[in-house]
Amino acid sequence: MVKLVYTQDLKSCALNKRGGSIPSGGTSSVKYIYFIGDWRNWLARTVWDREVAGSNPVSPTTSVAGVKKNNKGDHFLMKPTDFKTITGKSIPLPVFFPDATRAVLKTLDSSDIESTKTAGILVNTFHLNNFPGGSVIKEHKGVRNFMSWSGGVISDSGGFQVMSLAKQFNGKDSVSDAGVKFKIPGTSKKILFTPKMSIDFQMLLKTDMIVVLDDFTDLDANESRQRETVERTISWAKECKKIFTKSCESRKLDPTKKPYLLGVVQGGHNLQLRKECTERLVEIGFDGLGYGGWPMKDDGQFNYDIPRVIGENSPPDYLLYGLGVGKPHEIVEMVKMGWNVFDCVLPTRDARHKRLYTYTAKSINEIDLRQKDFYQYFVPDKEKYYHDHSPVSSACDCLLCQRYDRSYLRHLFQIGEMTAGRLATIHNLRFYSILMEKLQPVYTQLCQK
Ligand SMILES: [Zn+2]
Repeated sequence: MVKLVYTQDLKSCALNKRGGSIPSGGTSSVKYIYFIGDWRNWLARTVWDREVAGSNPVSPTTSVAGVKKNNKGDHFLMKPTDFKTITGKSIPLPVFFPDATRAVLKTLDSSDIESTKTAGILVNTFHLNNFPGGSVIKEHKGVRNFMSWSGGVISDSGGFQVMSLAKQFNGKDSVSDAGVKFKIPGTSKKILFTPKMSIDFQMLLKTDMIVVLDDFTDLDANESRQRETVERTISWAKECKKIFTKSCESRKLDPTKKPYLLGVVQGGHNLQLRKECTERLVEIGFDGLGYGGWPMKDDGQFNYDIPRVIGENSPPDYLLYGLGVGKPHEIVEMVKMGWNVFDCVLPTRDARHKRLYTYTAKSINEIDLRQKDFYQYFVPDKEKYYHDHSPVSSACDCLLCQRYDRSYLRHLFQIGEMTAGRLATIHNLRFYSILMEKLQPVYTQLCQK
């Protein structure tokens, strides 16, 4: 196995990237390739030859995963092609994780999710900490066993829910360097939610990707408040990294069993601050970065400048996680920019509200994401659909489209039957898994550049 490590100096290699350590000669089964100085210079070969290989040189070759050789013989970092689960699965990138907030995708069970070819799900730290709580998850040795799910699982930090509750409880004063103070709804119980609590609970969940706690920058915050949230985000990120590294060591996790640890970039609409936050998080060393805050412009359009700045200032081998993204055309744009991990409530929530996503193409083979209107919505809310015997989409192979027609779906929604929500959710999830299948070659091409 080969791990790629970017670092400012060899001494910090031991602390960087999932707690990897410098192997001695050829005795370790893990070979490390170190990138020194500015990662954009990619002085890998020089570093390898002079500093690492030493008296027992093991030269990396072009066959090594993650390394590319140019015509001068220099080695380059490559974008990751797969998302590795801690259970040993490789999921091709890009990957979309629908939100199974409380360890369930509403109306579906885990076998339903599998039938949609959904590669993984996102679970919510705050909600699972409340119900069923850590002891039940621990009994099951993680959330995957709890819900009998064998695919990928990622978790959030719990920060978003906690921050929302904290603002109701005591406004902005609830957030301090120690953590976020909030009151559990319906009780008088006050809790201080800390970076340590977030990491500890995510480790208990045994998810494949863990996200650090961050301090949300309000998009309308003034400059000093923006700066304050960025500083706190960086200080919490450092703390989370330390706790994560210790936790992996105490569990004696080998590199293949360690979850990815992702930092979160804050800074609101201030691109300079976003850049600085990105660089300082990269210095701490993570497996990837996501953006915090909702990058929307005043007109409600997605602000692509924010992910662009983060992507441009991250090492190429980083996972780039678009938190809460999004609409199909937004995902397409983000993948073109090199982003590779996504989660969103849209496909499942929209399904329960009668909004089904359909490709405008006639078959799966004919789907062309380059077309501006490659998808549309189908809303079975009109009387005429009682007489429509066609499937919801001919460019879909889900249970709903293969077995039932629009007329029956219209009927199920009309009588308020739960099966309507189930079938529509199955369809929307398959729409998103087809989207990922179509985007994989686009992303692979990007990786080969
Ligand atoms: Zn379908």
